[in-house]
Amino acid sequence: MMSQRTRIVLKSGKDQSLRRFHPWVFSGAIKKIHGPAREGDVVDIYDNKDQFLACGHFQEGSIAVRVLSFRKEELDRHFWDQRIGQAWQLREKLGLTGNGNTNVFRWINAEGDGLPGLIVDYYAGAAVIQIHSIGMFHNLDTIASSLLRAAGNRLHTVYNKSGGTLPDRPVIRGRSGFLMGNSAEGEVRENGFRFLVNWVEGQKTGFYIDQRENRKLLGSWSQGRKVLNMFGYTGGFSVYAMGGDASLVHSVDSSRKAVELTEKHMEMNFPQDHRHEAYAEDAFSFLQRVKEEYDLIILDPPAFAKHQHVLNNALQGYKRINQRALEVMAADGILFTFSCSQAVSRENFRKSVFAAAANAGRRVNILHQLSQPPDHPISIFHPEGEYLKGFVLQVE
Ligand code: SAH
Repeated sequence: MMSQRTRIVLKSGKDQSLRRFHPWVFSGAIKKIHGPAREGDVVDIYDNKDQFLACGHFQEGSIAVRVLSFRKEELDRHFWDQRIGQAWQLREKLGLTGNGNTNVFRWINAEGDGLPGLIVDYYAGAAVIQIHSIGMFHNLDTIASSLLRAAGNRLHTVYNKSGGTLPDRPVIRGRSGFLMGNSAEGEVRENGFRFLVNWVEGQKTGFYIDQRENRKLLGSWSQGRKVLNMFGYTGGFSVYAMGGDASLVHSVDSSRKAVELTEKHMEMNFPQDHRHEAYAEDAFSFLQRVKEEYDLIILDPPAFAKHQHVLNNALQGYKRINQRALEVMAADGILFTFSCSQAVSRENFRKSVFAAAANAGRRVNILHQLSQPPDHPISIFHPEGEYLKGFVLQVE
């Protein structure tokens, strides 16, 4: 017997995106709600001719339903086991789960793994959960048990870090905390390099896993170059630059904690090597006062646009920082430049960088176009999932 679920009927014509498997129902598309709809409830969605379209988690706000299935099915333990198990199997196929040179990866990438509102990152046996929707939060315990069943005895820690990501509702309690184990940090390996990750204190879930392959590419461009890593966080790109035989590496981040960890990572990976220096400083002020002639610069700022309505400011921000980097770049330089704003499209980001190059008066070629690695899959029906955009530019 299927459980009785509230039915949401869409306005005429508003079913098209769902038929193309886009996983969100916007509140403006809803014609009528039949029955009680509490936040976090599973609801069924129908078109206005009474045809079933999908089921998912209801929530107040602009995204009213996050779709979990396009079939009429029970969202029971079997459902969670299946989705979470499939996500694990993909990472297995990608060679990430074997405890080899890399033991840190994104295990569940929200819409990209058919689980909108849920992020799970894996740090050498620790699963760190970050939940964005109330429906997902209601299923926290079920999710944790499915994680354990999928990964078997590899997991020693499960930490829920949803304090900063859940919507603000008085009914939601216990936003962050350990569900298993109690270690707040651990050492991970990425392409053979060693990093310390503190998932309780660190930014996001502790580490920017999405830059793994771009960091590797950076390593291959680093030989003999003077490298400036802007917005370096805990020095991911800097470590790869050192490994790629850069002649000098400078890391800049406004977070003192991140800079301290950068120095620790250097000591762990390149003890007694004096090519590296780190600066706890604002990126814009650093770029105003640079004296060194860098010929490889990385710009990986935080998301300038968290929402569509601040898009223009964000594009200005990207233009400004890229222009400054292009102005100080030595001849025959390389710029790795990124945007991780979901609201900024690849086209818009490219236009900002174009304007920056034009204003700086430098001749620039695009050598590589970068995105996120395959453990951050993007549903082709949900282009918003491609949040990480990057270019490698050759600067004459
Ligand atoms: N490239 C990093 C991730 C960068 S995340 C990696 O591979 O791990 C963005 C970083 O920018 C954060 O560490 C944040 O502390 C830093 N940041 C934010 N605003 C800044 C500013 N105005 N100046 C310098 N750093 C800043």
